[in-house]
Amino acid sequence: MLIGIALTLLGLLQFPNLFINKSFDYKSFELYSNGHVELDDDVKKVLDSVIVNLKQSQFYQPKQKFELYFVKGTLYDRLTKLFGVNNIASSKYNKHIYFGNPDFVQSKLIKGESKFEWVNLVQIISHEAVHSQMYTDYSRLGFMKIPAWINEGYCEYISHFHKKNSPNYNLNLLRSKLQETEDDWVKSEFGSMTPTIYLRDRLIMEYLLDVENKNILKIIENENLDPEKILSQMKIKLNGLDKLQVDQDVRISKELLDLELAYQDMLLPIISLKEDQTKMYWFIVSWLKTSYSTPDWTGYYSEEWKEKTKKKGIDCSGFARVMMDQVFQKEISGSSQGILNQQCIRIERNSLKMGDLVFFRAPYSNNDKIVHVGVYLQNGYFVHATSKKSASKGLGLSVNSLQEKHWSEDFVAGGRVKE
Ligand SMILES: [Zn+2]
Repeated sequence: MLIGIALTLLGLLQFPNLFINKSFDYKSFELYSNGHVELDDDVKKVLDSVIVNLKQSQFYQPKQKFELYFVKGTLYDRLTKLFGVNNIASSKYNKHIYFGNPDFVQSKLIKGESKFEWVNLVQIISHEAVHSQMYTDYSRLGFMKIPAWINEGYCEYISHFHKKNSPNYNLNLLRSKLQETEDDWVKSEFGSMTPTIYLRDRLIMEYLLDVENKNILKIIENENLDPEKILSQMKIKLNGLDKLQVDQDVRISKELLDLELAYQDMLLPIISLKEDQTKMYWFIVSWLKTSYSTPDWTGYYSEEWKEKTKKKGIDCSGFARVMMDQVFQKEISGSSQGILNQQCIRIERNSLKMGDLVFFRAPYSNNDKIVHVGVYLQNGYFVHATSKKSASKGLGLSVNSLQEKHWSEDFVAGGRVKE
């Protein structure tokens, strides 16, 4: 019985027009409210701005109509609260429900109670309308399959379009805002609160569309896109020179940046080093393309040695030696086996720390003779000169994870260089 009533009520909620009268039509919009809203210049201005946004959308259809319901204070409002709905707006098909009071003069939708008291009216109507557009363009099932970050990201992207000429609108600025906060909500350019995840999704979308010049339809079709990965790529690309010149220790050349870009996929798992361990990060980048061969140690301490060897090649223990020396100020030398036996304390795999060494046996060997060494970085990742895959492809150094089958199977021990 109770369930029956609940289902009936839920069903009724699909028809907000049963609870609230239409106030007026204007262009693409039918506006429903308690009668506080009249079609005046302020209303027109807001709705016209929405249309300016919507025309930027790939899914724009001039004839599409949107029903806007401003339900605050109505029975509909109370019923939805009964079902625990507590957002400021939602949409289904062409029906958009707004749970705040609209202020068309200030272009605000005012909710009132908590810290997300209001949102920008043009922005929120545009956002919900893009949902409607996409909903119409894709079959119901197709729409459901679009990942949330694409769906919300595109709605956010389009709904902020009218702000694009403002000086506050800057991809890098927003990105640093996202980086600085750990809160669930951030202040938008409008001064209103927006969920941090929406800011993230908008940034990614904007980067893909405006910087990478991708097409939204192609983005939807590509099932392999990973938002966090794109965010890191974006970080690399946008960070560029300006950020890094701050660091006096490291001379960032154009060459180094090109290398970084060429290896960006490989660098992703260790990208946080760029800020936490700037010197180490750029040290690694500077050796990335060096091929695999036994180096000649004559003149090791000269600058020329480094440049010459980067061109000629380095082997695994050689690279470990240079990195330990130049990044960690620790001296090691000789073969991998010798380094482990004489110069290290053995460390368990799960106790590895940045700057420890990782030692490997030969594939399929039946003993623990060490034939390979790398330098441990973080989160299971290590860097090493390897003749295996990367060098044979002319790629030089490699960053790999101890979780990868090959490295996991051949791992013998970790080693911490003795003081
Ligand atoms: Zn949304």
